[in-house]
Amino acid sequence: IHPTAARRPYPIVVQSENTTYTDDYITAKYVNRGADVVTAVDGQLKITPSEKLYEFRTNRKVPKTGIMMVGIGGNNGTTLCATVLANRNNICWHTKSGIQQPNYIGSLLRASTFRLGTDANGKDVNVPVSDVLPMVHPNDLVLGGWDISGVPMDKAMHRAQVLDWDLQRQVAPHMAALGNPLPSIYYPDFIAANQEQRADNLIPGADKQAHVEHIRADIREFKAKHDLDSVIVFWTANTERYSDIIAGVNDTADNLLASVKASHSEVSPSTVFAVASILEGVPFINGAPQNTFVPGAIELAERHRSFIGGDDLKSGQTKLKSVLAEFLVNAGIKPLSIASYNHLGNNDGHNLSAEPQFKSKEISKSSVVDDMVESNRLLYKPGEPGAKAKGGKVGEHPDHVIVIKYVPAVGDSKRAIDEYYSEILCGGRSTINIFNECEDSLLATPLILDLTILAELLTRIQYRDLAKGADAEFEPLYPVLSLLSFMLKAPLVKPGTDVVNSLSRQRNGLEAFMKACIGLEANGDLLLDSRLW
Ligand code: NAD
Repeated sequence: IHPTAARRPYPIVVQSENTTYTDDYITAKYVNRGADVVTAVDGQLKITPSEKLYEFRTNRKVPKTGIMMVGIGGNNGTTLCATVLANRNNICWHTKSGIQQPNYIGSLLRASTFRLGTDANGKDVNVPVSDVLPMVHPNDLVLGGWDISGVPMDKAMHRAQVLDWDLQRQVAPHMAALGNPLPSIYYPDFIAANQEQRADNLIPGADKQAHVEHIRADIREFKAKHDLDSVIVFWTANTERYSDIIAGVNDTADNLLASVKASHSEVSPSTVFAVASILEGVPFINGAPQNTFVPGAIELAERHRSFIGGDDLKSGQTKLKSVLAEFLVNAGIKPLSIASYNHLGNNDGHNLSAEPQFKSKEISKSSVVDDMVESNRLLYKPGEPGAKAKGGKVGEHPDHVIVIKYVPAVGDSKRAIDEYYSEILCGGRSTINIFNECEDSLLATPLILDLTILAELLTRIQYRDLAKGADAEFEPLYPVLSLLSFMLKAPLVKPGTDVVNSLSRQRNGLEAFMKACIGLEANGDLLLDSRLW
C-alpha cells in the first residue's frame, strides 16, 4: 500500500449488512430510488416511484499516482507544482502580515466536509470529504508534464508572478529538481499568434500520428521512471480555438483515428493528447474551454473504456453565476439579463485577447444558466418542441453577454463584474451587481488537484446491476466522468443526458455517489427529528 494509505487508518466504518470490507475492497449495496413520469392525454402526470438495486465496489489500494500536465510551465502548472512542493516539504514563508503555512484551501476534497449523520445528542457529524473513500493525498502526486515553452520550472514559476517572493525563493530548488517541461506539440493555428515567442520546446515534425505515438511513449516513460501505478493527463495549456466538426473527419472514432494518420488540419493538439491518453488507457481531463472532445474522441473513449472529463475549470465568475442564477430562478425571480465583464493580465488573458480563442471561452461561459431556465417554464415561456433543429420558436431565455479584456497591469489578479437584472413582483425590477477579484491560479490549482484525485478514485470504483443476477460482473463507470462537474464550467456528460450546471446539485450528486459507495443514503434535508414531536 502506498504511504498515504499507511499514514492514517481508514477512518470510517459503516455498520450495515449492505456494506462489507475486505483488505482489497469496500463493497456496498445501494437502492437507487427515482420516479418515472408519464404525461397522459389529458395532461395529467402519472408518476411511478422506481427502485433499482446496484452494488458498488471500491478498490482500497491507493495507487502511486502521477499527474502529467499539458502546459506545466504556465501559471496554473507552476502554481500547482509549487504549492504541492510547499505542502510536501512543509515550507512556510514570510508575508507582510506574518508567517504563512502551506495549505489546500479551495479544494473540495481537502478543505470541505460531508455530513454523515447525527450523534447521540442529535448533532450533525461532518467529516473531511477525503475521509469518505480512500484517495490519493495531493502531497503524494508525482509531478510532470509538457510545455511548448522550455523555460525550467523554477524560472517558469518566477515568470508567472503568482506566489509570494519568499515562497518562490524557498521552493525554487524543488521546482528546479522537477527538470524542464517535456517538449510538446504546437500547431500555431490553434492558439493565439501572440503565443509564438513562447514556443521553443517542440516535438519536431507535423506528423500527427507520430505525435500521438510520442505522447504515448512519454506517458509510459514517466510511469516507468517514477514506478507509478496510475497517471492522469491534464490539459492546462492555452485555450485553443474550436475545431470544426466535419463529417468524415472527427465525427466518429474511426474517422478521427484516420484523420490523425492523415495529419488533418482540424485535429488540434489537445485532441492529439486526448487520443494518446485514451489509447494509453489513462484518464484525460480538459481544464480549458475548447472542444477537445469532438464526437470521435468520445466514441474512442467509449470503445477503450478509458476515462475522460472536461471542460474548462470553474474557478470564479462562473462558479458564482451557477449559484446566483439558481438562487434567483429557484426563488421565483426572473433574471432578464446577465452581463459579465472580465479583465485579466496574465498569459491566459493575452491568449484570450484573440477572437477565436475568446469564442471558445464565451461558449463555455454561456451555457451555465441554461438548465436553470429550462427547469422553470413558469418564468420563461417554453419554445416549440425541437425548435432549434426545425428553426421554430425557441424558449425564452435571459440576455446573456460575456466580455473579456486583456489588461496586463493586473497580472494574475482577475477582476470580474457581473450585473443580474431581474423582474420581480408586478413589473418591478431588481439589479444585483457583483465585483469579484481573485488570484486566478490560486483558485484554479485546487480544482486541478480535486479533478485529478477524483478521476483516479473513479477509476477504482466499479458497479454491477443486481437486476442482472447475483453473479453479474462488475463493470467500470461510463467513461465520461460527469461526477467531476462541480469543478468544470461546461461539464461534459454522457451524450443524450442533461448537463447539470447548478453548483449545489453538482456537489450533492458527488456526495450522494460517494456515500452510495459506502452504503449510505444521500443527505436529505427532511430533518424529521426537528419537525415531529
Ligand atoms: P498560461 O498561459 O499561464 O499557461 C498555459 C501554458 O500552456 C503556457 O506555459 C504555454 O506555453 C503552454 N502551452 C500552450 N500550448 C501548449 C501545447 N500545445 N502543449 C503544451 N503546452 C502548451 O495559462 P494559465 O493561466 O495557466 O491557464 C491555463 C488554461 O486553463 C487556460 O486555457 C485557461 O483558459 C484555463 N483556465 C484557467 C482558469 C484559472 O482560473 N486560472 C480557469 C478556467 C480555465
